[in-house]
Amino acid sequence: MTMQARQQEGEVREMIVATGTKISDGIAIGRIRILKEHKYEISYSRTEDREKELERLEHARSEVQKRQHILYEKAMKSAGEDGAAIFEAHELMLEDEELIDPCKELIMQRGYKAEYAIWSGFDKTAQMFREMENPYLRERSTDIGELKNALLDVLSGWEMEEEMRDEPYILAAEDLTPSETVRLDQKILLGIVTREGSSNSHTAILAKSMDLPALIRCKEIDKSWEGKLAILDGEHSSIYIDPDPEFLEKMTAKRDERKKQEALLSLLKGKENKTLDGKTIKVCANIGDPSEIEDVLENDADGVGLFRSELLYLNSETEPSEEEQFQAYKRVAQALAPKQVIIRTCDIGADKSVSYMRIKPEDNPALGCRGIRLCLTRNDFFKRQLRAILRASAYGNLGIMFPMIVSVKEVRECNELLAECRRELTEEGVETGQMQTGIMIETPAAALCADELAEEVDFFSIGTNDLTQYTCAIDRQNANLERFLDPYHPALFKLIQMTVEAGHRHQIWVGICGELGADPMLTEMFLKTGVDELSVNPRSILPLRKKIRSIDVTNRMDQNKRT
Ligand code: PEP
Ligand code: MG
Repeated sequence: MTMQARQQEGEVREMIVATGTKISDGIAIGRIRILKEHKYEISYSRTEDREKELERLEHARSEVQKRQHILYEKAMKSAGEDGAAIFEAHELMLEDEELIDPCKELIMQRGYKAEYAIWSGFDKTAQMFREMENPYLRERSTDIGELKNALLDVLSGWEMEEEMRDEPYILAAEDLTPSETVRLDQKILLGIVTREGSSNSHTAILAKSMDLPALIRCKEIDKSWEGKLAILDGEHSSIYIDPDPEFLEKMTAKRDERKKQEALLSLLKGKENKTLDGKTIKVCANIGDPSEIEDVLENDADGVGLFRSELLYLNSETEPSEEEQFQAYKRVAQALAPKQVIIRTCDIGADKSVSYMRIKPEDNPALGCRGIRLCLTRNDFFKRQLRAILRASAYGNLGIMFPMIVSVKEVRECNELLAECRRELTEEGVETGQMQTGIMIETPAAALCADELAEEVDFFSIGTNDLTQYTCAIDRQNANLERFLDPYHPALFKLIQMTVEAGHRHQIWVGICGELGADPMLTEMFLKTGVDELSVNPRSILPLRKKIRSIDVTNRMDQNKRT
């Protein structure tokens, strides 16, 4: 924790600056309320009236089901289908006798009270799930823990809302369950900060869908914050307690300006992305996880230009199975159809490593066995992903693209494996859909051979992050090289121009999906190259649309010719 002592009107004021991991951007300003933890008192004593305890158990079960249903309806309104799904799942889980039977046994055979039976029975089941290999099932242990608490809440008559007051506030808590999050009165909830939590948790998804500034893993949360004025700055992953007046004024202005901009930008939703001279540009989203579907829809993206599929691998302790991948891709394809979703095949290696892949240490990992090189040396691994993508293609408008390509030979190998997987699936009687096939242009070799490569694919997507790294020979991971890095290096723009021209000569479309695509200083230059699509993080979509609508590409080119 850093402390900044500030002199003010003769007294020393201290502004506390604490940091965490941001879940969503945005600024919230208000007083802190600390969520009091509810401790359950579990009695080990036994009872003779076993029927009564069974009745209490059943009462709690049906009451929690009712509550979960109410929460589902509430979440549908505030967070949409994605945010609400968890409550429907909880309601269904409670119908499962296998979950309740161990508790009933503890009551009927051992004479324990309902509280202890639930506490012990659910804990054992949760432990069983925690030890499972399948990551999806492993995660269910969290749901079981939450249902246990919900049942104990009913038995103890505890209601979270009673703890909160009417004034708008920023909530600070150890951790929050999805139910707790959705039960908070959104009219007065300004933001959330928790000590624990994970970026992929249901709570995080809910906070994002509810558009709440939120910070997790903020280890400095302290009881003394209760009632203090705070600024939660999602953009900088920080919270400031007791801000000094000057800083408060600056951040209040920033928050108000942000709100104004957001309101203005939202007017662009549903409007075409046309330049002043009438060229339509597709503005798509870059995502890494199906949980970001809401962001894509909310920002009215034209589709997904880059689904970084390797995040599914990085978020798992074992390789995701074909079925797990299929479910993830299908979910995105279905939710966004008829919009196109382009899945970039697994780009592991270099900075994105996972232990279960047992990648041998290399002297130059960024120039080593990463991306397509890894996939082409592990065909079985690659085919599991290709099969999953092909299966999901029957459920929407999917495209596929291969990363780190340097030669025609590699593209042909990829296309052959894809065709082989399609044949196998057809023989197995599994349906597949049509898909556009493309490659990422992120090496100078690919840009320089774009004419030859264009013969093999339906589109190019330029990855400026790696294209910069490999063109300028600057390791993108090495912070010490910052001063040598020129993100606007002319060599990069020459390669981009060459790629777009080569693509168009061969009647294929060309997009940009690297970070530079979201830089408004470059939009005009990119559009002048003739690029057809920009794919950016969902938050940059609306500002980019605004920028595109202010550009007249023809006029600029005429002006340039005259001078
Ligand atoms: C890129 O290199 O520009 C790109 C989009 O891929 P990544 O950042 O995932 O390497
Ligand atoms: Mg890349």
